[in-house]
Amino acid sequence: MGNDHFTANVKKALSNKAQRGHLEFVMGNFRRGRASLFTDSDKTEAMRECIRDIKQRVVGRLPDVLERLEKECTANGVQVHWAETGEEASAIVLKIMQSVNGRTLVKSKSMVTEEIHLNDYLEKHDCVPMETDLGEFIIQLRKEPPFHIIAPALHVTKEQVGEAFTDNLGTEYTSDPDILQAEARKYLRERFRTADVGVTGVNFAVAETGTISVVENEGNARMCASVPKVHIAITGIEKVVERMVDLPLALRMLVGSATGQRISTYFNMVSGPRSEGHPEGPEQVHLVLLDNGRSNIHKDPELRQSLQCLRCGACINHCPIFKRIGGHAYDATYPGPIGTMIMPQLNGLDKHGYMAAASSLCGACSEVCPVMIPIPDIVRRLRVEGVDKAGVVQGHGTNRTFNETAAWSFWAKVMTSGGLRSMTRKTFAHTGQVMPAWGPLKAWTDSRVRPEFASKGMLDLLKEEDNGK
Ligand code: SF4
Repeated sequence: MGNDHFTANVKKALSNKAQRGHLEFVMGNFRRGRASLFTDSDKTEAMRECIRDIKQRVVGRLPDVLERLEKECTANGVQVHWAETGEEASAIVLKIMQSVNGRTLVKSKSMVTEEIHLNDYLEKHDCVPMETDLGEFIIQLRKEPPFHIIAPALHVTKEQVGEAFTDNLGTEYTSDPDILQAEARKYLRERFRTADVGVTGVNFAVAETGTISVVENEGNARMCASVPKVHIAITGIEKVVERMVDLPLALRMLVGSATGQRISTYFNMVSGPRSEGHPEGPEQVHLVLLDNGRSNIHKDPELRQSLQCLRCGACINHCPIFKRIGGHAYDATYPGPIGTMIMPQLNGLDKHGYMAAASSLCGACSEVCPVMIPIPDIVRRLRVEGVDKAGVVQGHGTNRTFNETAAWSFWAKVMTSGGLRSMTRKTFAHTGQVMPAWGPLKAWTDSRVRPEFASKGMLDLLKEEDNGK
């Protein structure tokens, strides 16, 4: 998707007054939730610094920590798989399903499976993936991508949920949330009971003990990880902490930043398949460790900070841009500031470089980020790389248009030549006052105060001062 498509999406979103009002309300609740939990600013800053240090240390020595994780998981009976690309990760899931003659799969919410488009892949291979988180379930019925990383159906009204249920499940139309929830529960229970495989994401994998931890509020992740005979957990390689003692703070900062809860309703720790003679739990547990561009990010010390992300969504909830345009306008798995930062790095500036423009650089995101990622600095860096042919992010230099190149070459020539600079300044002093309300400058002057060009340059003024005039 190019800039033009993104601009069209933004215009469409901005014209949707109802959505903007709804977002204002819901995002306000998220923000108030977080604010009511982190009331002591000194304590909050101390906790942020602590979790930032924990994640910085892990990311700094990621290969070692991942090796330890693999070793401990294997010792626990968890089968560890490495996937370099999304396609590879999906193929691993399919192979595991085929090995148990499985066709049906229940999933708990996982952004990393959205990132690799796992559902599409499985459907193409005659498997039936079923989302079980209520929000994900709703958007799966509506055939939509998530709107927000922690609230995927944030944009859907209860009337639209009622319609989606009637159209897809054949239930009698209602917009009563209690009845709708009961319908979803009834429908999903049967899916849990009969599924061959359960898939979950991972919030933190603990290297020291080989433990997979997943937080949730609905209990569906626990069902996915315990009812089917096979549990597959999929995670990006950055979602790891070194020690079990790191986990309480990591969870507190994740959940508090996301929803303002002290702790989520359910908190799962999986350390292996059921032991012999144990009547419950999966017979096989698999952990898929996904790279998908993360190693490239890891190579650069500044960009590497992106890998500290906990995927809490607080930056999205505080973003003035997201609040106005919503998640679908970005046309990317991760929207808002986290997406602006991570999508061009994962998929290349040629594919998602346009997202770097969707930031006011106001810094609200980095102020609330629990792991203190300097998001605006990284976005600025991506903007530079988007037009710079010497960058390290894949697809760098692709966003420079012919007009931009011409304008900046002209600018460089003028600024490095005294005579040209003086001539251009004089020209602008006369013509700049009637800066046109047409052409490429129109968009600028439409929404901003027109700059006034000085009649005299600074050198002239200094000369006059020296001459005592
Ligand atoms: S960048 Fe920070 S605030 Fe945003 S999702 Fe990641 S951890 Fe949360």
